[in-house]
Amino acid sequence: MSIIAVGSLAFDSIKTPVGKKDRVLGGSLTHFSNAAYFLSRPKLIGVVGNDFTEKEWEFIRSKSEALDGVEVLLEEKSFFWEGYYSEDFDTAHTVKTELNAFAKFAPRLPENYKAKGDILFLANIDPVIQKQVALQCGHCHLKVLDTMNFWIQNAPDALAEAFDAVDAIVINEGEAFLLTGEKSILKAVEKLLKPHFQFIILKRGSNGVMVFGKDFIVSLPAYPVRKVIDPTGAGDSFAGAFMSYLDAKKVKKINREVVKKAAAYGTVVASFAIEDFGVDGINKAAKADIESRFREFEKIASF
Ligand code: AMP
Repeated sequence: MSIIAVGSLAFDSIKTPVGKKDRVLGGSLTHFSNAAYFLSRPKLIGVVGNDFTEKEWEFIRSKSEALDGVEVLLEEKSFFWEGYYSEDFDTAHTVKTELNAFAKFAPRLPENYKAKGDILFLANIDPVIQKQVALQCGHCHLKVLDTMNFWIQNAPDALAEAFDAVDAIVINEGEAFLLTGEKSILKAVEKLLKPHFQFIILKRGSNGVMVFGKDFIVSLPAYPVRKVIDPTGAGDSFAGAFMSYLDAKKVKKINREVVKKAAAYGTVVASFAIEDFGVDGINKAAKADIESRFREFEKIASF
């Protein structure tokens, strides 16, 4: 069993209230894989340009099981995102999004990505690409999609079609409000929860996360971090760790208990992500650090 994951492989320029970094390795797929790594190395689908050096290849190689689905477009640059966070760290403001290589990407599923029992994660990227990959992954028993305001605003119809091709979605609270026009969590989720969905993950930044299933709601606080440095990739890291838990436990049936554990594990791994810029926060953590924070979180979040 593996996770197949598609998303952006990118360079990010990030400014937060405590510092600034230019052109660090980022992208939804990079953060996803970096977080999944401790329990399950995904098979990646994406595209990069001529600016991806051996250093970046080495990083994604070390975090993945296969890169056969990653295309190189030598006449293009890699996806680039520039953004900043205001004082509360909770909202990412986009300054620039350059699709570059992604504008020409037509994903194809390699033969070694077609194993029975695989699960699929469509990390934040153009919903047209997400749907193309979902349709090629009929062998996956769980397909989960993440998105963001850029696609909600620029490609709402394609996003609606991509929703039809998956079993679950991951979305920020603010994005759920934007997409539904609602201001209450329950009303927004009622509008989003399609009959074929197994669950919706509502990411709430420093307020934690909620997961809505057909017959359960799970709500967890964020793990309290002493000093936030850069929240970029926290959502993708949550998703990577969440999916890696489902994969490692070979979960076939989604229920409250499984979701609670997977979401707690995702919360803990994401808490490392925000403690440094880019991929460095998680990269500095050892598996033992994650396990010890998980045990602490078990006490914090139970009553
Ligand atoms: P997160 O903070 O988890 O929402 O994800 C941040 C990552 O998403 C950054 O590393 C960006 O490179 C990437 N990203 C930003 N905008 C987009 C977009 N429109 N499509 C795909 N990935 C994006």
